[in-house]
Amino acid sequence: MKILISNLVTTLDGGQEELEHQVLQKLRINSNSVKYIKVVKQSTDARKKLRFVYSVTCELIDGVRIPADKDIRVIEELPEEKLLPGNKPMGGRPLVIGVGPSGLFCALVLAQNGYKPVVIERGGNINERIEKVDNYWKFGNLDTETNVQFGEGGAGTFSDGKLTTRINDARCEKVLSEFHRFGAPDEILYKAKPHIGTDILKNVVVQMRMEIERLGGTVLFNTKMVDIKSHNGEISRVYTNTNSFIDTNAVVLAIGHSARDTFEMLYRKGITFVQKPFSIGVRIEHPQEVINTAQYGDAAGHPAIGPADYQLFCKFLQRTAYSFCMCPGGIVVASASEKDTIVTNGMSEFKRDRDNANSALVVSVGPGDFGSQHPLAGIEFQRKWERLAFNTGGSRNGAPVQRLEDFLEGRVGGLGSVKPSYTGETRCADINNCLPDYVTDSMKQSISYFDRRLKGFGMKDALLTGVETRTSSPVRIPRNDKLECIDLQGLYPAGEGAGYAGGIVSAAVDGIRIAEQIIKTYSTPK
Ligand code: FAD
Repeated sequence: MKILISNLVTTLDGGQEELEHQVLQKLRINSNSVKYIKVVKQSTDARKKLRFVYSVTCELIDGVRIPADKDIRVIEELPEEKLLPGNKPMGGRPLVIGVGPSGLFCALVLAQNGYKPVVIERGGNINERIEKVDNYWKFGNLDTETNVQFGEGGAGTFSDGKLTTRINDARCEKVLSEFHRFGAPDEILYKAKPHIGTDILKNVVVQMRMEIERLGGTVLFNTKMVDIKSHNGEISRVYTNTNSFIDTNAVVLAIGHSARDTFEMLYRKGITFVQKPFSIGVRIEHPQEVINTAQYGDAAGHPAIGPADYQLFCKFLQRTAYSFCMCPGGIVVASASEKDTIVTNGMSEFKRDRDNANSALVVSVGPGDFGSQHPLAGIEFQRKWERLAFNTGGSRNGAPVQRLEDFLEGRVGGLGSVKPSYTGETRCADINNCLPDYVTDSMKQSISYFDRRLKGFGMKDALLTGVETRTSSPVRIPRNDKLECIDLQGLYPAGEGAGYAGGIVSAAVDGIRIAEQIIKTYSTPK
């Protein structure tokens, strides 16, 4: 018999032994009655003294009586639902555009079900990508096709690899178990806030791509979709920048939120786009020790707990200010994909052992702010602030930075105790000049509130780097009940760029959902 036990509490030093003791005590049995104990969730509880809280599954030998307890539940193993192929003939092989989490998982599930997808990706493979991103970070030479947004693994490859999501979908488990199967550490399967880190994620995405190829899929890098053709209201062909084309009647559009040229091409072709709210602001850096102390008190630095994270949120009348994509022990990364722009984001390695904690500090913006009813106006809005940041930052990939106190007082000063971790050049400047007033005003109003929630957040030397504009997609491509775009049969908008995800896991889940829909619709290609 298999059971789930929740709310098991141990000290930080207790380890496996204390947890096992808790399990046996709760079940009122001895260890001979237990076949195995597996941790399925570990979180920290900081309400009084910092402790671990666990959920575990255990298999018990036959005949053990389970005490009545709200924290104990017998697990019923349901047979897995089989995905049955549809009967619509597939004209060619399914084509997936983009190899970010959404495209990667879509292609993997298609390949696992015998659909041998073709995947095209505008950016380079991981090795080319590492080289080109390094060239941008060190020398300011941005490659507009292979960068932090574009290339093998998509936007999340140079990231913190946080695998948390607010969506509640059983497919999340598949995402974590596939990441684990291809090289992510065991702990992503049970930690409440799992993360991979860019160093591991880079290898995981390569292993996944190789699996797609092993199962008969084809992955083509440096291959961009530049045009589409349709026949009788159905997609029939995709043209690429390699002077070639691919004939197919099932195309997955997993292009991410930064493929502005592709959005424009699709819009010209009559695909419906609608404006979508997102958020803009800055990256804020603090010494990681300040965050650890604020969150963990005396337990800060204990080897059993990693560096602390935080999540802050503050609602005003019309706007919300919040922390986003927080990276403990990480660095701020130059993430532009267009020339003469500055875009910030955050990244960390598995160990999260750098000096600074960084997070986006952003404020919600929406269609009313974009200055036009045009469906793609949100892109132009992003571009405006990204260019201003570039001009304010001065040169090459120089980003504007400012101490928090100077930002609050609207003056240009120097650096304080927090040194910028930004992966390019920086220049002290007034960040008030590269964001709209309603954004900087909301940020300023939120600081003292956030400082009360997280002691030290408002420290004068905290460092801002601008600007953070790519928090989520500025557009949505509406889908019908078969998950196709409403204008063209067989074209499946997927993931973050199409407005159906926000983050690695939800993008991957949406990719899986699209793959399942394709399988249910089309018969397996010969
Ligand atoms: P993307 O990952 O953007 O992938 C789209 C792919 O499509 C790209 O590789 C692009 O090159 C390709 N493409 C675009 N146009 C074309 C075309 N015309 N032809 C061919 N290919 C094309 N999320 C988290 O959950 N946790 C984090 O810790 C985290 N950290 C991040 C750190 C950074 C630096 C960045 C930039 C993002 C981070 N994110 C994080 C967000 C996360 O990466 C995205 O939510 C996720 O990657 C979206 O997945 P996607 O597959 O929808 O799109």
